[in-house]
Amino acid sequence: MSDFKDQLGSGFDDAAGPPEFDMQDGLALALSYLEDPSNVPCPRCGPNTIEVVAFLDAPSMERGTAVPTKPEGDYTVVLYCHSCGRAAALDLSRDEGTEDRDAA
Ligand SMILES: [Zn+2]
Repeated sequence: MSDFKDQLGSGFDDAAGPPEFDMQDGLALALSYLEDPSNVPCPRCGPNTIEVVAFLDAPSMERGTAVPTKPEGDYTVVLYCHSCGRAAALDLSRDEGTEDRDAA
């Protein structure tokens, strides 16, 4: 349990700043990303609009610092939809070591 809600939900209120996906859309994005990182459809706009902007170090994110990293271990993936212009920072940190990788 970490700041999952905070990272997904921040910005959904009327606070100033760039638009972000809400909690529900953020979860849909996370599930799509985990299923196929190369094919993440926007919950609102459909496929082929989402770009993976960056991978950030999750522990650093919790300290308020954005540190680029590899998509391994504890990381946050930043997605951006070119159609609706919203961004999502998905914390994909996994505590357990279970990882089933399909050789695509
Ligand atoms: Zn969109």
